[in-house]
Amino acid sequence: MEKIKLGISTCLLGENVRYDGGHKLDRFLTDTLGQYVEYVPVCPEVECGLPIPREAMHLEGNPDSPRLTMTHTKQDMTERMVRWAQRSVAELEREDLCGFIFKSDSPSSGMERIKVYNEKGMPVKKGVGMFARIFMEHFPLLPVEDEGRLHDPGLRENFIERIFVLKRWREVSDRKESRGSVVDFHTKHKLLILSHSPKHYQMMGMLVAKAKDLPIKELYQQYQTILMEALKLKTTSKKNSNVLMHMMGYFREELSSDEKKELLGVIDFYRKGHIPLIVPITLINHYVRKYNQPYLKQQAYLNPHPLELQLRNHV
Ligand code: SF4
Repeated sequence: MEKIKLGISTCLLGENVRYDGGHKLDRFLTDTLGQYVEYVPVCPEVECGLPIPREAMHLEGNPDSPRLTMTHTKQDMTERMVRWAQRSVAELEREDLCGFIFKSDSPSSGMERIKVYNEKGMPVKKGVGMFARIFMEHFPLLPVEDEGRLHDPGLRENFIERIFVLKRWREVSDRKESRGSVVDFHTKHKLLILSHSPKHYQMMGMLVAKAKDLPIKELYQQYQTILMEALKLKTTSKKNSNVLMHMMGYFREELSSDEKKELLGVIDFYRKGHIPLIVPITLINHYVRKYNQPYLKQQAYLNPHPLELQLRNHV
């Protein structure tokens, strides 16, 4: 697989672009995730023409449509930032991004819970950074996160899984459109989708079943929309345990009673939160190889992203 293209707030890469001339280097993003992705850096404040260093800014007014203002001089930067951001998202369309990692707490780049000050100078953490808002409105289906939230193992796993799936989907969409390609992609991702949302799994099954009745463009569009909505929903140990039990059903004939007992025990331990998901997954992968199970062998669920990222190693 080619590297995955991700937009990122420039300061997270260690570039000295912040208002105080510093950076916010995040080593996980550069050294670990960076092995699999190609970053497209975006610093809204510098790219809209502000110097380094510069006066700090904040959001103020109505949290749903705040103004971006210099903290001391009170200069209003809203129009300048909005004009630049609208041009920037149009240019970013050409980059074929699979997601964006924003800098948390920034009035320009933060994606949620950004302080917005009222007329008395009191902050409420209900705002969205000015560039981040315009970006998310322009690309509503793209996976987005901020570096702070990515320290949470569950959110990290969810975000990275989504960008890997979206990249694989893009590779399918870039080839000649065919109903067969959608069916093939869906077949490989069925259990992964099920682990996020049984409801979306059903909806997508119905969509693929009537694939030949839909114009091909509409099929691709609808499939991608439901896929990204499904993957946004977090997996839980209950949903994963159901998928693991479902997979176990494929070995009904092959597993000895000892092997069945061991697998059931491991799934139960996982469900109760005593061991991480990687343990039952490793055991099932072992049986898939041992018994050469053709359907499970192709399931993205068993191998959705590189093991080295250790995304399924948390309890
Ligand atoms: S938070 Fe955004 S605007 Fe601020 S320095 Fe980082 S990239 Fe630039």
